[in-house]
Amino acid sequence: MSLIDAYGRKHDYLRVSVTDRCNLRCIYCMSEEGIEQISHNEILCYEDMLKVIRTGTEMGITKIRVTGGEPLVRLGIVDFIREIAALPGVSDLAMTTNGILLPRYAAGLKTAGLKRINISLDSLKPLVYNSITRCGKLEDVLAGISAALENDLQPVKINVVLMKGINDGEVEDFLQLAREKPLHIRFIEYMPIGDHDHSYGNHYLPLSFVEETAKKAGLPLTPVPTYRGPGPADYYTLPGGKGMIGLIHAISKHFCSTCNRLRLTSEGNLKACLYWQEEKSVRPVIDNPDALKALFRKVLANKPAEHQMASDGRCGAVQPGTMRSMSKTGG
Ligand code: SAM
Ligand code: SF4
Repeated sequence: MSLIDAYGRKHDYLRVSVTDRCNLRCIYCMSEEGIEQISHNEILCYEDMLKVIRTGTEMGITKIRVTGGEPLVRLGIVDFIREIAALPGVSDLAMTTNGILLPRYAAGLKTAGLKRINISLDSLKPLVYNSITRCGKLEDVLAGISAALENDLQPVKINVVLMKGINDGEVEDFLQLAREKPLHIRFIEYMPIGDHDHSYGNHYLPLSFVEETAKKAGLPLTPVPTYRGPGPADYYTLPGGKGMIGLIHAISKHFCSTCNRLRLTSEGNLKACLYWQEEKSVRPVIDNPDALKALFRKVLANKPAEHQMASDGRCGAVQPGTMRSMSKTGG
């Protein structure tokens, strides 16, 4: 029983947001005060999340990514990873984290069955990192990256949201980092997501900027068409590089036609597209596997061909109130 939508796209990837809370306040993700948090009892319990994941695996989901908010701030996260890893049908289990708490958790996550990890890091300069995250310390995330490498959570992928006037001067430094360390450095286009007041219009830069910078720096990017992760990044090698470069053109060359993912939000809503209002609560059907399967099919049946950022050219305008921030939906 495959999860195939009206456009013939097969879905085998479920992203699970375990919390809307976070220990950072990134400028592109939430406002300084943070998001309006939902109460603890509105967050789906792990047991119910596992029911959704188990049902998904019976329908063809094989890849799970645990995310948030910041997944490592939710208590019991290591045991949750262990329970997902034990489910038959899960062949890939990954996490996206800001890395701050990884020195504490990396070893336990590895033992529990986490295979690989994505860590967000938008600047290699302590002050810039602190101002992007509004409170983070660069040394903490660098220690988190080292812990991920030491515990073989490979490949360790670094997510860098490219922002004009903020970190565009550091592209070459990130390229050098991918030469020196076995990291996949993935540049992501800034998306107008969330209804907080951010200055998307001033800071969006297409990723062609990374290719141009690489060429000027004498580090031309060579495509690796044979390498594809389960996600949307196009991968490149660098001359003499231990790592790789990934480009995620979320907007300029969006990848909706090959989208293979569904999302479960922290309060328990199934969602077929990040940039789409429609989502359905799993709660009324959580103890009825057949009804849960029907809900998966219903959500998938309404999945749009492409996200609105792509289809109506509204890249410069955030529609107030129409979207939840990435921290709530799970990036
Ligand atoms: N807290 C974790 C982290 O930061 O990695 C996981 C959740 S975060 C919402 C997931 C990813 O979404 C991060 O890599 C972050 O950079 C990305 N993200 C959040 N808001 C974004 C935006 N407006 N545009 C592009 N990427 C965004
Ligand atoms: Fe937190 Fe991740 Fe959003 Fe930054 S991007 S505020 S770390 S959830």
